[in-house]
Amino acid sequence: MAVFTVDFGHCLSGGDTGAGGNGYREENLTRLIGNLVIIGLRNYGHTVHAIQLDYANSVAESLNYRVNRILAINPTQSISIHINAGGGTGVEVWGDNLCKDMCNRICSNISNQFDMDNRGFKNGCEDLALVGLYGSSSIPALLVECFFIDSLADCNKLNIQKYADCIVAGILNQAVEKNNTIIEEGVKFNMKNVVVFTREFEGDGLIAQMWASALPEGIAVNNYKKIDYSKVENVYAVGGNIGTYTGYLKPENFVAGGADRWATLRNFQAKIGK
Ligand SMILES: [Zn+2]
Repeated sequence: MAVFTVDFGHCLSGGDTGAGGNGYREENLTRLIGNLVIIGLRNYGHTVHAIQLDYANSVAESLNYRVNRILAINPTQSISIHINAGGGTGVEVWGDNLCKDMCNRICSNISNQFDMDNRGFKNGCEDLALVGLYGSSSIPALLVECFFIDSLADCNKLNIQKYADCIVAGILNQAVEKNNTIIEEGVKFNMKNVVVFTREFEGDGLIAQMWASALPEGIAVNNYKKIDYSKVENVYAVGGNIGTYTGYLKPENFVAGGADRWATLRNFQAKIGK
C-alpha cells in the first residue's frame, strides 16, 4: 500500500488565498475535491495525509509549511490540488518526470469526462515549489489544475465527485465508480509487448517495469482488465495466478508470484535466464 499526501493548495485567509471567479473560490473547491480524493484513495487501502493550512501571512510561508510537511511525511506520491485562473479553459497537470504517466492519465480522465481541453503534462520542477519540493528528487510530486475558475464554460461543468474520481483513477491507474460515472484510464493503443501485473505499489510492478524496459516497445500496465488483448502482439504477466489475466497470455510468458517480492524476483530471473 502506498502513502499519499493531498495538499489543498491555498489558505482560507491571509496572504495565500486562491483565485476566484463565477461565484467560486479556489481554496473552497480544492478542499471539497481534495477531501473526496482522500476518501477515494483510502477506499483502496492507501494511507493519505491531508496538507491543509487555513492561514498564512505570505505565499512563501504557506509554501514552506506545505513542502516541509511533505518532506517530513516522505510519501510515495505527493498530490496538490488547484483550480486555474488567468483566461484559459481546460485541465493541466504539472509534475516531475517520475510521475509523468500519472499526470497524463489525470489529464485525459478529466478532459474526457468533462469534455474540456486537455492542456497536458507540464514539467513543474523549476517553477513550482509543490512539484520541485526544494530539490527533492526522490518524492514524485504532481499538481492538478482542475479547470479555469474564471471560465464560465468550465464552471458550468463543475462536479466535485467526478473531479475526485478522475484524479483517483489517474493516480491508481484503474477505473473507479462513483456518481454512476465510470472513469477509464484511457490506455488504448496497438501494442507490441505488454507486461501486465496486479499490484502497482508492490514488487510486481517494479519487476514488470524492468521486464518491459528490456522488450522492444515494451510497456508495463497495471490495469490489465482495460487492455484490448486482441491488439497486443505479446502479453506477459507478473504475479498472481495465470488465470487472473487473459486467454492471450501464454504460460511461457507468465511469472508466478512468490511468497514475497524476492521470491517473485527469483521466479522472474529463472524465467528469463538471467
Ligand atoms: Zn492555486
